[in-house]
Amino acid sequence: MTTSTMDVQALDARHVLQTYRRQPVIFERGDGVRLFDAAGRGYLDFVSGIGVASLGHAHPALTRALAAQAATLLHTSNLYFHPLQSELAARLTSLTELERAFFCNSGTEAMEACLKFARRYWHTAGEMGRTRFVAFTHAFHGRTMGSLSITWDEHYRAPFAPLIPGVSFVDTEAPETLASLVDDSTAAIVVEPIQGEGGVRPLSPALVDAISAACRRTGTLLIADEVQSGSWRTGPFLRSRTIGLSPDLVSLGKALGAGVPVGATLLSGKVAAAIAPGDHGTTYGGNLLSCRAALVFLDMLEHGGLERVREAGQRLGTRLSALAGRHEVISDVRGAGLMRGIAMTDAAAIAVVAAAQERRLLVNRTGGNVVRLLPPLSVSDEEIDEAVRILDEALAERAD
Ligand SMILES: *Cc1c(COP(=O)(O)O)cnc(C)c1O
Repeated sequence: MTTSTMDVQALDARHVLQTYRRQPVIFERGDGVRLFDAAGRGYLDFVSGIGVASLGHAHPALTRALAAQAATLLHTSNLYFHPLQSELAARLTSLTELERAFFCNSGTEAMEACLKFARRYWHTAGEMGRTRFVAFTHAFHGRTMGSLSITWDEHYRAPFAPLIPGVSFVDTEAPETLASLVDDSTAAIVVEPIQGEGGVRPLSPALVDAISAACRRTGTLLIADEVQSGSWRTGPFLRSRTIGLSPDLVSLGKALGAGVPVGATLLSGKVAAAIAPGDHGTTYGGNLLSCRAALVFLDMLEHGGLERVREAGQRLGTRLSALAGRHEVISDVRGAGLMRGIAMTDAAAIAVVAAAQERRLLVNRTGGNVVRLLPPLSVSDEEIDEAVRILDEALAERAD
């Protein structure tokens, strides 16, 4: 550890609110899929800032666009029009079956907007009693009060009670219990197409069917949280449609801003029609810098990047399945595209993440026992092979 590392850690320990358990490493610079620590050592980054650095680090086109935007205009607020927000909304809606976009700065804010818009929809319809939400075991939707209320983990929730009332959690393993919890008091069902923080858990087809049936039966709105699974990370722009869900509201974040904080809520025409000026708002949301970043992300992917992301996702999936065949400690390999989880015991996951980091591969542990891989969408075949080779070594080391 260099002296500067010590200084940074000491200052953090003294002055930063201690809400994070950080790894003792300082990254000073990035280049593509590599991060460089204070001593200049390169790490292969398969965390990408929790699925955020979708174009890799220091992407030249993004760097140029952000510098140019900073030199032109960063922020004017939503009191006025600017040319980039409407363009981004048009691009996002053309990529989906949804009709309008609301912009904010994070995933949790995008979820807050989903919850508010769902409540507002029923309020406008005169159905004042339709206020409840149905969410799922292992769900994660963010840390603000509304999003926390539909987040499952008691560790995150309990110290902050009471949360918003009227939330029920359905066991993802018991889809048959969903029907009895959805009725004409339910405003919306809220679901991640692949649960991310909960351990990279895809929805079972039976659960998808139960959700669709409950929506058809009761008219309940469907909110898809695509903050992690969306923006092409799992292949399609939105995961929900490909698994058979037709959401009325979709939240986006993480990869969409490629490193600049951007959140978005996409709405069906039906829900959008119930929202009036003044119903919701934000000072920063959809400002010029964040819209510019998201537009560069869409440009890079749409102009030649998509086929490559699909290939990379398939390669990663194939390589990880082979890895599972070689290591008994792996109980399951899950996910899609460039959102993958390797399930094992809690202790093994901790050891593998540490051993990988010693070999300069960054992966992280989620859902207790799952080693998660969320590389930049720009990851190359060679980088995928290198990461899997390092994981192979890390697994061999811990397996004795
Ligand atoms: C990360 C995440 C969020 C919260 O996003 P923040 O930007 O951290 O507020 C919400 N939902 C899902 C599915 C996420 O993965």
